[in-house]
Amino acid sequence: MTRASPRAAAYAIPFNKPCLAGKELAYIRDAVTAGTVSGDGPFAKRCEALLERELGVRKALLTPSGTQALEMAALLLEIGPGDEVIVPSFTFVSTANAFVLRGATPVFADIRPETLNMDAGHVRRLVGPKTKAVVPVHYAGIGCEMEALGALAAERGIAVVEDAAHALFAAYRGKPLGSFGTFGALSFHETKNFTCGEGGALLINEARYVPRAEIIREKGTDRTRFFRGQVDRYTWMDIGSSYLMSDVLAAFLFAQLEARDRITARRRGVFSRYQAALAPWAQAHGVGLPVVPVDCEPNFHLFYLLLPSLEQRNRLIRHLKSRGILSVFHYLPLHLSPMGRRWGGKAGDCPVTEAVSDRLVRLPFYSGLTVTQQRRVIDAVRSAPI
Ligand SMILES: *Cc1c(COP(=O)(O)O)cnc(C)c1O
Repeated sequence: MTRASPRAAAYAIPFNKPCLAGKELAYIRDAVTAGTVSGDGPFAKRCEALLERELGVRKALLTPSGTQALEMAALLLEIGPGDEVIVPSFTFVSTANAFVLRGATPVFADIRPETLNMDAGHVRRLVGPKTKAVVPVHYAGIGCEMEALGALAAERGIAVVEDAAHALFAAYRGKPLGSFGTFGALSFHETKNFTCGEGGALLINEARYVPRAEIIREKGTDRTRFFRGQVDRYTWMDIGSSYLMSDVLAAFLFAQLEARDRITARRRGVFSRYQAALAPWAQAHGVGLPVVPVDCEPNFHLFYLLLPSLEQRNRLIRHLKSRGILSVFHYLPLHLSPMGRRWGGKAGDCPVTEAVSDRLVRLPFYSGLTVTQQRRVIDAVRSAPI
């Protein structure tokens, strides 16, 4: 798994640079001056209202990370020992770990070769009497087949938790990602389109889960109701933990969310330039590029190349490195990890995942990537001895 290299600073063109929209420091100063720096503060409420409005979700709650948003979903669904949760093998560990922490057994689904998203046909074959939830990951901000997954989940009475960590402000058939499942999880880690360093949000689409979510994130207490003046003291009501985002970070995040159209437009430019400049080269060398199905409106989270072989992929990474450009591979199959093998994961379980993981490389992609820098990356790719 390669999120950001510790030596990223050594590269003239890094893989990622966290975006700065402009008003982050001014908003942080506002939060500090007002003395409202703990969780559930004024900036958190502004971020949550914006997400609820733009995504059409019932409730958005900011969390300290995307991982913790997934953990909250697992707690709210009362996932426990004996339950099975279907996750893609081609994902970040948190998609599975949040449920494994509750004692569940992860069941790994393969991906589709065009979109690298969970294969709904494989998921259907994996559903059994113990299946409690399915967790689609919208890889690269391109939506999974939500119609098919939603129909399957409804038919078999299982919950859908969307891992929308890549997918904020992307849509499937005109509906925002994160608004399909019982829950959605967002991440604001520095590698994501919109960031505050570390952060996340739980999106809740069914009203009945809201009161308990407010208790779980407040250490199992009804402090949220107390702050609203609905009770005259607060006490221990349920299990819970600490899942609030400091308003210092929410202030940072709000500056980014407000600038969402500008940030997305810049990323669209980066994506389109890569696509236009690399399509003929890719065609000539048997290299795959991201596929955006007609049903999907992407948010341009990342741009990858699928090389014909592991050796060619590694040669390309080395060539780019020699030119001061950091490109990185992505997820190693979870079913073949030391943890995945504990549940019997073995080679051949998810053949597309296994083939793709070895051949994929992501190119530098961030909103501040200049046209000149991007030209250097494109020239380096096209001149690589692959
Ligand atoms: C980034 C990410 C997460 C959550 O990450 P955090 O660092 O905890 O915010 C979860 N799933 C996927 C697919 C991700 O890319």
